[in-house]
Amino acid sequence: MYRCILCKKELFSNFKTALCKDCHKTLLSYLRLEIINKYNYKIYILFFYEGEIKKLIRLFKFHDNTYIAKIFSIFLIKAIKDAKISFNYISYVPMYKIKKIIRGYDQSQLLAKFIATELNIKCIDLISRKKNTKSLYKLNKKERAEELKDAFILKNNKNNILIIDDIYTTGTTINEISKTLEKNNIKNYNFLVLA
Ligand SMILES: [Zn+2]
Repeated sequence: MYRCILCKKELFSNFKTALCKDCHKTLLSYLRLEIINKYNYKIYILFFYEGEIKKLIRLFKFHDNTYIAKIFSIFLIKAIKDAKISFNYISYVPMYKIKKIIRGYDQSQLLAKFIATELNIKCIDLISRKKNTKSLYKLNKKERAEELKDAFILKNNKNNILIIDDIYTTGTTINEISKTLEKNNIKNYNFLVLA
């Protein structure tokens, strides 16, 4: 017997990925698809980071519930189609490799891979983190910028890319990645962030 990951109500389905209808509806109420325009790229943000979305992201990030990637990917693919985002490659904002080893998976990479498979597009490792940055959530904007300065290096020189990330806060991570891309003459990219 399977239960809804959020409210624990019994589900009459054979798939562990399922949410109950009510929780699915609740998630839909957090949808916004905000678009932030930077000077030569866009950041698409799918959900408000609060309530049940926050709970589901935490379950996804910290509790080994990798199958939640599938639930989120379905919402992300719908956003890609609705907003008519076009790209030749998909990539993701990577975790530092030691962190990934400890957690066992990189949540944004999982999302990117699901989307890539569904849309039949190649998922590439565009960038890597060359230093183990501190957790950013306690830092202010200036401290974040300092912490992330030169944190990324380019791994794959490709253009026309959609880059997936899980949470958008001050945008420092995305700005720093953009600097790395611009430095390497990559001009054609957008970001799609879960919340
Ligand atoms: Zn439920």
